[in-house]
Amino acid sequence: MITVSCGDGRLGRPAMAHAERPWANIQRLATIFALLLQASVGFAAPWTATAQPTRLLNGAPVLFQVKSPAKLDSLTGTWLKHTFPFSYNASTKTWFALAGVNYDTPPGVYTLELSGESAGTKAPVELSKTFPVARAQYPEIKVELTVEKKFTEPSPEQLKEIDDSKKVKEEYLPRVTPDREWDGNFKPPVDAATSDVYGSRRIFNGVAQREHQGLDYRVPTGTPVAAMNQGTILLARFLYFEGNCVVIDHGQGLLTLYFHMSELKVKEGDAVKRGDLIGLSGGTGRATGPHLHVAVRWQGTYLDPARLLQMSLP
Ligand SMILES: [Zn+2]
Repeated sequence: MITVSCGDGRLGRPAMAHAERPWANIQRLATIFALLLQASVGFAAPWTATAQPTRLLNGAPVLFQVKSPAKLDSLTGTWLKHTFPFSYNASTKTWFALAGVNYDTPPGVYTLELSGESAGTKAPVELSKTFPVARAQYPEIKVELTVEKKFTEPSPEQLKEIDDSKKVKEEYLPRVTPDREWDGNFKPPVDAATSDVYGSRRIFNGVAQREHQGLDYRVPTGTPVAAMNQGTILLARFLYFEGNCVVIDHGQGLLTLYFHMSELKVKEGDAVKRGDLIGLSGGTGRATGPHLHVAVRWQGTYLDPARLLQMSLP
């Protein structure tokens, strides 16, 4: 690359030709030396482990990409007490995994532990790399929202319904299917403006709630809602707070959730592709009006959907 650009410079500025020639020769020698060095220690070429985005934040998803000098059969990562498998992209010879940083993770430096198995010999390969995590700025929205009493002071029958919904979530949401189903970028479920962001703190009837675990889109009832990526329908049913909800399993513990819909257009077990219709938006469950609440859950941790939508993924 360097040699080519020097050549271009000489063509444009013939008077500089003599002055640049010795420098070009030095560069050529340096290139040859580098190639020889690489050939002699090729087997020991360094590993690289990178993160996207480069600045990690609490609440944000992260794509780890690893290049290994030796061929591997498998690669597993451990990060913030989560263990997850990497997938291999043969065209870029890169191992990759989508992970995240919990909302409650304090700023600091954290270690990604990598363990792999060499192809053929099955010899274990261990490696680690540290990444700093900075604190994200999430809005404090001090607005008084009024919701029906059944959500803040439920009756005994309503408590039973709440408990039933809770059991369904406890049964389904922690499921981790080993194979990755998501493929490429995530797409917004609707083409609309957002009305509340991830991480904001809201107040219901004067009582402070925990941070908002998803992204709200301002859409009227009946707006078609699309799958954000490829996956399998894990849940498609009515839950007390979530209303008519759909949960898509994208594999390896990554789920997308869609709440408050007026109508469901898929059933549990269905395979969906990115952009497929999964339901119509509404205001069912604990909602102050029609809107679509979308959440991204990775191995029990809710991540910022807006940041996932910005990522360029393999
Ligand atoms: Zn919401």
